[in-house]
Amino acid sequence: MIEHRLRHAEQVAEKLVRDERLMLPIDVVALAHSRDIHVEAKPISAQGVSGMLIRVGESYAIAYATHITSEGFQRFSIAHELGHYFLDGHPEAVFRTGTVHESHAGFAVDDQIELEADHFAAGLLMPSHLFDAAASRFADGMEAVKGLAGVCKTSLTASAIRYAQLGESAIAIVVSRGSSVEYCLTSEALRGRRGYRHLKKGTVLPRNSATRDFNLDPQNVLLAREVSDSTELNVWFHTDEEIDASEEVIGLGEYGRTLTVITADMSEDDGENDGRQWNPPGFR
Ligand SMILES: [Zn+2]
Repeated sequence: MIEHRLRHAEQVAEKLVRDERLMLPIDVVALAHSRDIHVEAKPISAQGVSGMLIRVGESYAIAYATHITSEGFQRFSIAHELGHYFLDGHPEAVFRTGTVHESHAGFAVDDQIELEADHFAAGLLMPSHLFDAAASRFADGMEAVKGLAGVCKTSLTASAIRYAQLGESAIAIVVSRGSSVEYCLTSEALRGRRGYRHLKKGTVLPRNSATRDFNLDPQNVLLAREVSDSTELNVWFHTDEEIDASEEVIGLGEYGRTLTVITADMSEDDGENDGRQWNPPGFR
């Protein structure tokens, strides 16, 4: 994975948003139409395929999968295909072997071109300048994640990931299934804590965590129930200090996974951060 090219893909999307003066929620279909790209919903049955970019001569079309009914997922899929259109080198790469490119959108693959398209999609749907401004309207934690998902019309997971990436608070996003962690992303402020150890894929959720209890009942996940509890950062990330945090949990429905947002309470932090608000300046 070439990290700087992922950042570049995000920046290309954000520049497009600024140049075209687009507003949240970004109208990805209108953007496609402005480039004469036809967009169509398709009951794509192939395993894991989120969408397709099709080239016929000089014309392009996007088909997006409808087997996952979430609007956020479908918009992300369209934005991902637009990435293959707008990013340098992508049309050549994706049409090397034919006229139809099948995508697997969603931050879960190990393919450079697909990851770049995912990062383009995140930058397009949640451009940092508009995202930061929107985030300032919500309290930290799950309220911000849900609020941003509503404003950007993106999935809770995509919104949470972007929120942790761009914010300066000590925040962690954990996606879990059953008793184990599938994905974890932490903000820079959290990674910088002494003793920090990353929560790797496959790690068992901490005992007595609200998330682990929540996942014992599959109905909690399916019905998108929510719980919250207090926790400590060291329980999750082995930080040297015991730092109080909130653990907010929501079931992701048919996706079969659970989203946990851990937000550190830094109000009693030591002198180093005196005079600095807990909320990220970028989000104000
Ligand atoms: Zn793709």
